[in-house]
Amino acid sequence: MEQLRCQKGCLNVTQASWIVAIGDEVLSGHTLDTNSNWLAERLRETPFPVARIIVVPDRDAEIEEVVSAAMDRSGVARIFCCGGLGPTPDDRTVPALARALGVALVEDPATMDRIRVRVRRLHEKGRVPSPDPNPGNRKMALIPAGAMVLRNPVGMAPPLAIPLPSAADQRWLLVLPGVPRELRVIVDQEMIPSFCDGGRAVTYLEAQFQGVPESQFFALLSHLAEAHPAVRFGSYPQAQPGTVIIRAGSSEPTALDRAMAELLERAPKPSL
Ligand code: ATP
Ligand code: MG
Repeated sequence: MEQLRCQKGCLNVTQASWIVAIGDEVLSGHTLDTNSNWLAERLRETPFPVARIIVVPDRDAEIEEVVSAAMDRSGVARIFCCGGLGPTPDDRTVPALARALGVALVEDPATMDRIRVRVRRLHEKGRVPSPDPNPGNRKMALIPAGAMVLRNPVGMAPPLAIPLPSAADQRWLLVLPGVPRELRVIVDQEMIPSFCDGGRAVTYLEAQFQGVPESQFFALLSHLAEAHPAVRFGSYPQAQPGTVIIRAGSSEPTALDRAMAELLERAPKPSL
């Protein structure tokens, strides 16, 4: 028995996002990379769906290498760097990005003022010993020259939007703190509305099948891929044994409807 579900989304093959998750703690397995998963879900509904997620350690050379590679790919219109903006020496993201961009690090006076106010407040609450920013706090006001500082309503680290050279549409390098609560507010309030809007949303369709072993779909899915080149199918077995979801996405709604209708019509019958 199958159920049809419909989700709004956007599939645009020419403009993609890459997510670069930065942190030793993710690579060592101490922290699960929930940021990338959450962000990919959000970006699915924009004209900049995620084409690649890469995790790198808190090491300058590796951050620089992967961000440079993303900048060199013209189809990558948005690069999200997540994590490593904090006040300790292991937070390496901003200096590494400055190197990848070939620009100097400069102190942003407005960010420094904001940090001063926050440190003073923390001192008044008895949470830090001095009312003045320490070198760790000051480090967070250093940004790559030319970067725009966005609002962080939750924490101290300044999120950044950096315009990238481009022959056609504007491309952006978007930089986020790793703390999930901060990242989510900044993405929803600052980044999606201003840097990821526009474009046309398309429909994803999915059908759930029970009692049909996944391999039984091989011939049909091979045929559908050839017969409907504008539609991309994926097969996803579920935790409940014998349950498979087949999901299709396309930027062409009519082609998607036709392909899905054919899937439902020709799907193998349950054998369990
Ligand atoms: P802050 O300025 O607040 O220190 P930050 O940008 O330096 O933030 P990190 O120090 O890298 O971020 O991480 C802060 C917290 O967020 C840590 O507890 C870390 O484990 C968690 N975190 C980092 N990256 C991720 C991720 N990809 N998914 C989920 N949690 C993460
Ligand atoms: Mg980290």
